[in-house]
Amino acid sequence: MITSTTGPQPADFADVRATNLTVVLRFVREHAPCSRADIAASTGLNKATVSSLVADLIDRRLVRETGLTENRVGRPATMLVLDGSPYAAIGVEISVDTVSAVATDLAGERLLTWRRSFSGGDSVNQGMAGVGAIVRRVVGRMAKEERQVLGLAVAVPGLIDVQGTVRIAPNLGWRDADIGGDLTKALRDPGFPIQVDNDANLAALAEQRFGAHAGASDLIYLTGEMGVGAGIILDGRLRRGGRGHSGEIGHVQLDPDGPACHCGRHGCLEAMAGIGAVLRKDPSPAEIQVEIEEVVRLARSGDPESLSTLDSVGRSLGKGVSILANLLDPEVVILGGYYVPLAPWLLPAVHEELGHRVVAGGCHVVASTLGHDAAALGGAARVLDSVDSGRLPGGLSRIP
Ligand SMILES: [Zn+2]
Repeated sequence: MITSTTGPQPADFADVRATNLTVVLRFVREHAPCSRADIAASTGLNKATVSSLVADLIDRRLVRETGLTENRVGRPATMLVLDGSPYAAIGVEISVDTVSAVATDLAGERLLTWRRSFSGGDSVNQGMAGVGAIVRRVVGRMAKEERQVLGLAVAVPGLIDVQGTVRIAPNLGWRDADIGGDLTKALRDPGFPIQVDNDANLAALAEQRFGAHAGASDLIYLTGEMGVGAGIILDGRLRRGGRGHSGEIGHVQLDPDGPACHCGRHGCLEAMAGIGAVLRKDPSPAEIQVEIEEVVRLARSGDPESLSTLDSVGRSLGKGVSILANLLDPEVVILGGYYVPLAPWLLPAVHEELGHRVVAGGCHVVASTLGHDAAALGGAARVLDSVDSGRLPGGLSRIP
């Protein structure tokens, strides 16, 4: 005899409630200050359910009440805003010459921004000892402020698989490194999740949450560090691909007779429009900042050779961006890293190439406004995203 169960089971009920909690939390994040009635009207949840969900979020100190405001029909309503003061999200970016750490509260307000010089090139173990020391200090600072750390996400310039293992980080010289495991050990099982992701992916998440085009559902971030990689957000979600290796636009070949690339091929975008092409030599990590400043100074002074190099780099970059634009149709492509100070000279050539090459006509390309720690900020954004998608801290669900 075949039996079937009908009606919601306890597990289903808990799932629905958890989903509704995140719906309310997201609404408050996007629309605060707002009232319980606003939440009910916009989400379709009934008022009693909204009251119960809000009480739960207040118990967890994710939402707090703030004063009274006259609502549309003239009755005073208690307004709600995100609280999150007892929480922190941490993002860390490992790059060739620096480690950056950012901590934010639940609303995304920065609590701390640290940057330390770093030589990851020595070995994974030595490099991770340095990273572990910085992370321990950040976690210690958050503990002192009596904040619960919701999670840590680490950005690495390289191929990271979906489990978070660094398969290869060529500019760091790292291979098959379980740096999430290393950090868990260094922090002695900290009790919060540690995630590892590609730097371009996390920078794209930072732009989506905090950047000048925040909220864009189709956005591409292009790193301009030692390498060139793309973080791709389509239909509102980061697209990592089957093995987690999407976005390797840096090694799309633009010219088979072009200059040699580190990957062993010729004429890759990275070789023609990366920082090495701007500086016209293999840059040494410690010198890049100073050398890029010198290029900016020369370009400002109208130096013909510098202007011609930047024009040619801009054209190659435009070719690369046109591939992304034709393939993925983003609302905006955001240039990060060292492309930002060079953008006034790169963008005219980029736009001219796009005008010729993008079938649907042009593409919006801008310089990032988030600065060099975009990927670290993106680490914090990834932690906040996991709260938005249901990993809620603190409190006990109260059953209405
Ligand atoms: Zn290459």
